[in-house]
Amino acid sequence: MSALAAVDNATIRSLNPITGDVVGEVPVMSAAEVDAVVAEAHHTAAEWGALDARERAAALLRVRQALVDRSRELAETISAETGKPHADAVFEVVAACTHLTYALRHANRALRRRRVPTSPVLVKRAWVEYSPYGVVAAITPWNYPVGIPFQILPFATAAGNTVVMKPSELTPVTGQIVAEVFAASGHELVRAVTGEAVTGEALVRSDVGKIAFTGSAATGRHILRTAADNLTPVVLELGGKDPMIVTDGADVARAARSAVGGTFSNSGQTCMAIERVFTTPGAYGPFVDAALAATAELRQGTAPSDHVGSLTQPGAAARIEKIVRRAEEQGARVLTGGKRRSDLGEEFFEPTVLVDVDPSMDLMAEETFGPVLPIVKVRSVEEAVRLANDCDYGLSSSVFADDASEARTIASRLMSGSVNVDDALVGSGIPALPFGGVKNSGFGRLQGEEGLREFSHARSVVESRFPRLPGLAAGMFTGNRPDPNVVHRGLGAVYSVGIRAKVAALVGRRS
Ligand code: NAD
Repeated sequence: MSALAAVDNATIRSLNPITGDVVGEVPVMSAAEVDAVVAEAHHTAAEWGALDARERAAALLRVRQALVDRSRELAETISAETGKPHADAVFEVVAACTHLTYALRHANRALRRRRVPTSPVLVKRAWVEYSPYGVVAAITPWNYPVGIPFQILPFATAAGNTVVMKPSELTPVTGQIVAEVFAASGHELVRAVTGEAVTGEALVRSDVGKIAFTGSAATGRHILRTAADNLTPVVLELGGKDPMIVTDGADVARAARSAVGGTFSNSGQTCMAIERVFTTPGAYGPFVDAALAATAELRQGTAPSDHVGSLTQPGAAARIEKIVRRAEEQGARVLTGGKRRSDLGEEFFEPTVLVDVDPSMDLMAEETFGPVLPIVKVRSVEEAVRLANDCDYGLSSSVFADDASEARTIASRLMSGSVNVDDALVGSGIPALPFGGVKNSGFGRLQGEEGLREFSHARSVVESRFPRLPGLAAGMFTGNRPDPNVVHRGLGAVYSVGIRAKVAALVGRRS
């Protein structure tokens, strides 16, 4: 029996990480079930892809209405499955509305037929047209179970595809609601297949036209290898280890508040969380003081509007504790936090600020994915940029400098998919901005026009301006072929540098 068949008929019980209550139960779907769902999605894709962009936009407006109508239920389910405060969860629904609105408004313009110049074949006219892949697979993580799918689904569907989504096994109930919300379009645009890694793997092997994966770098690598068997194209949004640079003369109070927000929101379980701060000597002391003051204002707990909630994965608090203890062994100093909060729940960990951090410490290499803010004092801006780039990841980053010109200069030197100047995290909330990483943070882009085109294939079409003339292919390969010497001279006349060289080529002399 194959590994895939071994999990047939099993179910996943989704548990609230704070209370242990069962939020819902979903099936673990087999490869055969996944294939059947993908086949159904192809049928819907044939109708949906045939609609024009305006008809699709009207249908997606009904999806937005369903999001609004079910916002409370969605936020409560997100909160129950992840342990994040309701106040954080509701922002996912807000982001979902803004991303959907962008996609439905801009798909027509971004994907319309585009004429291109035909030089040197001037007897032709040509254009690029964009067509859907058919069915897109979306494999998504648990940390933003609505926010992340809405970086993919509106763009894929507005481009004319249907989607089969594999939500994380930790947040499958939220995933099912997301699929239901899309059914308000009047079409089954999104179908959820539930299960663990094997179900995801079955989806990767299925007959989909494109795969959008958001999750860890390790899983991303695995998916890329698996997708290679069918040569299915993949967009990968992976982890991050985002740096913040704070230089002398920067507004350190603002920088510190942004670092605290950028690190501790969602308990640090954000791909573009600030995980490394580099400050120059003049900014260091005031920045540390301001970061401690801002951290002291945070309320951690289980109330809907607390700032810091529970971690989501079982065992996460113990994992973070180990990372912090190891950093202490290596010489770092905890200024605040550093402990579990078992009085609040199994998976609570205090917002933690660390100083005396050296870039060579273990916590500076891999994603922490928890509420830990390490601050490194550097000697110069040059060193800050070097250390920020000396990392396997390159998702997002943050810069606070003396003035806008210095900030922009630093920003343009960072190996990073995006840069927030004078802020953290916000870039991904602007749906017109493409979102994605470099290095181990992945490739391809979600959001923006790039995101709409990511889910479309470009078809180049060429036609004759003078249909009565013989075709060029026929002219070149039949009848009297051009004299190669004439072609060589023509090449020189057109592409040599300088007028003398062009004339020399034309008359057949070396210049
Ligand atoms: P994960 O890689 O463990 O799982 C993500 C999804 O992939 C889940 O649905 C899982 O079931 C599925 N999966 C696991 N193994 C698979 C396989 N072999 N084949 C197919 N599917 C498989 O990630 P996670 O723990 O759910 O999420 C946290 C990670 O996601 C972090 O690394 C975080 O940085 C990253 N992330 C990245 C972004 C981004 O936009 N770049 C956003 C959010 C989270």
